[in-house]
Formats: sequence, structure tokens, C-alpha cells
Amino acid sequence: MVVEQEMNCQECGAPDALCKTRFDEFLVLEFTDPSYGIVHNLTVATYMLQHSSKLAREGWMYERDLLRDFIIEKKSPATIRKQIKDNVDSGKRTFKFKSKTDAPVINKSTWSKTILDVRVENAAIYCDDINAWARSALEEAEQIVL
Ligand SMILES: [Zn+2]
Repeated sequence: MVVEQEMNCQECGAPDALCKTRFDEFLVLEFTDPSYGIVHNLTVATYMLQHSSKLAREGWMYERDLLRDFIIEKKSPATIRKQIKDNVDSGKRTFKFKSKTDAPVINKSTWSKTILDVRVENAAIYCDDINAWARSALEEAEQIVL
């Protein structure tokens, strides 16, 4: 008999694997309320970074670069959207973005912060917490050598 003992998400370590539910709720919130939506880019990139089974190897490294652009280089979403569009238009991005195998790209299952550390009381708190989560995930992801 196989006993299910996967209490935590195997990728980000969130208790009861509540990360996916939370992520879906946040996306709805961000699309409904623009004051939450301003951090949308960070939410998606950070979630993807912590759930590498959704991505191909190059896709994961791409998300990490993207997060670095947002957080360290302080590029605006508009600038990055243009950058992405230029790359796609010129055919520069030729790699596979999504995982075909569902196997995690990285071997890491615990992070200092997960999406469950983000509070939603109001937009200011939410945006601060998303930024803190993203920064912490980026710092840890930068240590990973692929
Ligand atoms: Zn997770």
C-alpha cells in the first residue's frame, strides 16, 4: 500500500502544497485590481522560478534573468515587454520554454520564502511582500549553477 505523505510542495516546500491555489488566487486578484496588478510580473516570474518542473532548463534560466532585470536592474515591465517582443520578433529566442517532461530543472525543495509568506490585507502590504518574496527567491536562485 502506498501512503501519500506529500504534505509539502516538493518544489517550493509550501505546507500542504497550497502554493498552486494561492498562485491562482493572486492572479485573479492582480487582474481584478490594478493596485495589486503592478507586481504581476514578479509574481509570475518568482512562482515559475520556484516551480521549475513547469519549465525547460533554458526557460528557467530565462525567468531568473527576467527577475534579475526587474529587481536588480529595475527595468520596468514595459521595457522588458519590449525587450521580449524584440527578441521574439527577431527570432532570438529559439529555445524551448516549457517543460516537456515535468521533471524539475533544479534540485531544490526548500526556500526561505514561498508564496504563502505573501499577505493580502491591502495592496501596499501585498506589493511589499511580493517584492520580498521575489528578492529572496532570486538570491537563492543565483546560487544555483546549472
Ligand atoms: Zn510549490
